[in-house]
Amino acid sequence: MSIAYKKRKYLNKSHLCLNCGSSDIEGGSINVDAGGAMQDISCIVCGSTWSDLYMLDDAVNIKISNNHKEVHDGPNKDVVARSK
Ligand SMILES: [Zn+2]
Repeated sequence: MSIAYKKRKYLNKSHLCLNCGSSDIEGGSINVDAGGAMQDISCIVCGSTWSDLYMLDDAVNIKISNNHKEVHDGPNKDVVARSK
């Protein structure tokens, strides 16, 4: 089986090892960056390792603040204000 095939299968059943299908997989710490996160995964049974990549999917619990309103009005007004 090709790695691409194993990967497709894993993306549908991410609780199972992408190589041997064991549920005995372990996740390391999650490294978060703006827009995404990555977690190293390893299989205890066959020793395969890979990284799960998470991408930003949505923005929820949004509470818009009225502070710094001049910034959200766009860069043109800001440039005009600074040039005075
Ligand atoms: Zn495995």
